[in-house]
Amino acid sequence: MRVYVDIDDVLCETAASLCILAEREFGRKVAYKDVGDFDLKAVFGLSDGEMERFRELSHRREVLLSFPATPGAVDGVLALKSAGHLVDIVTGRPAYTHRDTSDWLREAGLGDFPVTYVDKYGRTFKSGPDDPPTVSLSEIEARGYDIAIDDSPVVLKLLAHWRETKVLVFARPWNRRFSLAANMTRAADWTEILSSIQSARSPFASGC
Ligand SMILES: [Mg+2]
Repeated sequence: MRVYVDIDDVLCETAASLCILAEREFGRKVAYKDVGDFDLKAVFGLSDGEMERFRELSHRREVLLSFPATPGAVDGVLALKSAGHLVDIVTGRPAYTHRDTSDWLREAGLGDFPVTYVDKYGRTFKSGPDDPPTVSLSEIEARGYDIAIDDSPVVLKLLAHWRETKVLVFARPWNRRFSLAANMTRAADWTEILSSIQSARSPFASGC
């Protein structure tokens, strides 16, 4: 089966790391479990200017490289590959983070998997001539993913229309109130992700 795996808060603990960053840089103390919204400006009570700085800081190399892997994620992705699945890493990060994102993946042991940069949030970023292209979610829908794993309510709303794709919602505080669409299942961790994928059957697969 073809599997879409998000990076932030699916492969690595981004929000927990950003809580530390917000406290260190802006003195905003918010516990990870209280990040009940995907809008970090609101979560940390940042002004427009602070949010701009926060966004810039959060995409810096030393910050991106510092995110710890989500428990079970690296072994989980490698297990999917060993089982014969095709894993694509699909991120909403700006394409200009490619070098740092690739370095993190390589250091984690996931350097062999292709990364696609998707405009998940309707944001535009300046990209350099060496940056990979950024594509739309509808462009990658045509790849016919059997499974998509994501945590962002903004993205999940769009993935609800991918009728042939089983969407695994990685349970996080900010998607606790998200109403699952018919094609969605909530997964608490990578153990649940792997068992969901094991029991899924590809509607795109030929034969029986
Ligand atoms: Mg994410």
